[in-house]
Amino acid sequence: MKKLSFANKLTIWYSAILLIISIGSMLAMSEMGKRNVKESSMTILVEKVSETEEKIAATGRDFEFSRGLDFYSDDVYISVYDKDGNLIEGKWPAGVTEKPEFGDRQQKTVVDSSGDEWYIYDGLCNEDGRIMWIRGITAGKYSLFSSGFVWHTALLSLIGLVLIALFVGRYIAVRSLSPIRNLNGTVEEIRRSGDLSKRVEQQSKDDLGQLAENFNGLFDRVETMVDKEKQFTADISHELKTPLAVIASQSEYALEDEEYREQALRAINSEAKRMSEMIGRLRLLAGSDSNNLKLHMERVNFSELCNSILEQQKLIGKESDVNITGDIEENVFVNADTTMIIRAILNLMDNGIKYAGPGSCVSISLHEEAGDAVCVVSDNGPGINSENIDKIWDRFYREDKSRHNRESWGLGLSMVKAIVEAHGGAVGAESIMGKGCSFTIRLPRKENDDD
Ligand code: ADP
Repeated sequence: MKKLSFANKLTIWYSAILLIISIGSMLAMSEMGKRNVKESSMTILVEKVSETEEKIAATGRDFEFSRGLDFYSDDVYISVYDKDGNLIEGKWPAGVTEKPEFGDRQQKTVVDSSGDEWYIYDGLCNEDGRIMWIRGITAGKYSLFSSGFVWHTALLSLIGLVLIALFVGRYIAVRSLSPIRNLNGTVEEIRRSGDLSKRVEQQSKDDLGQLAENFNGLFDRVETMVDKEKQFTADISHELKTPLAVIASQSEYALEDEEYREQALRAINSEAKRMSEMIGRLRLLAGSDSNNLKLHMERVNFSELCNSILEQQKLIGKESDVNITGDIEENVFVNADTTMIIRAILNLMDNGIKYAGPGSCVSISLHEEAGDAVCVVSDNGPGINSENIDKIWDRFYREDKSRHNRESWGLGLSMVKAIVEAHGGAVGAESIMGKGCSFTIRLPRKENDDD
């Protein structure tokens, strides 16, 4: 069975509520009407009994009943009894069998054989010692339709109201829910076709318009993520092609040529290490993507850490003819994972030495700024094209892809970014082509207890 649409459900719900409220008010009106009718029936009943008493009193004890008394008028039956309760004369409604005890000026209610109510009123009349009971009885029957025209009109109005509510309400519900149908249609289309570029048409500026905007924003993100993921997979397979080709060819040489075997095995070993290093970096990046990078945070003297990196890099710089200098402020403390932070700074220093080349200068500086510890690694190498400066943090991005550098995966800076951001810090890069570049690591500073 086809499920009811939300607009139809909404229409049914409020029409049902409207119907319940209308029937409730009709019943309340009916109850009030019933009370009014009872009151007016009682008034007429009392009047008729009193009229009969007056007529009898006007003649006295010799009154003759067949003459002058009206035993049925205005829906009231009148009957006259002697003092022992025996009927002298009168009219009594068929179907009413119950005859309660007489009681002067008393009102009573009895029920006939069909379950309808009747009101009774008694009057005691003493005419010169002739005692008589005058009993009046009238129907208390009252129903929603007993008042005829009014109630028929009310019922017709009720039906009309519900019909109007159904049609007008459905029209309004369908119109106002059209943005949701639109949204649903787009989601359905994306699900069926897998085309993530589809977007919802925004029709209004209200809550539903906001929902459509949020949905579009969400799909912008999903599309970017999926595109990145695709690019990432393509890059990995591309990057692995060369080392795997080297391993395949070198292993063949090793099998064929005994003399060349050792050299081939060294080449294979070197490629395997490089691939292992790449996988290590990718795992770190995957961990940072899922906010799952395990950090062993401790209070670290960042100044000491930078000084020891400086000393170590000075030796490496000498081998590559690169001058390494430092300007490190004392006693700058941070909360950090020492191994990870060393890894990030070493990566920047390695890049400086690698890209600036022999005869150049690479420097490391550390200072405090607005409550943060700011470490800057600069060089006076070729620099990075300003158009590409934002891309260098992307995975597998290399400025010069054609120059296949065996030392380069294009993963170093994205790893630096992931490590620093996992520490709650931020990275930055500036460069002037031909003059060099500088990379900044900004970490939230941990106050030195001695301060
Ligand atoms: P890799 O060095 O392995 O290629 P990185 O992510 O460390 O990867 O660097 C990305 C790219 O940024 C490099 O390929 C290079 O083009 C550029 N780059 C990084 N550091 C420097 C630098 N100090 N000087 C010039 N270019 C740099």
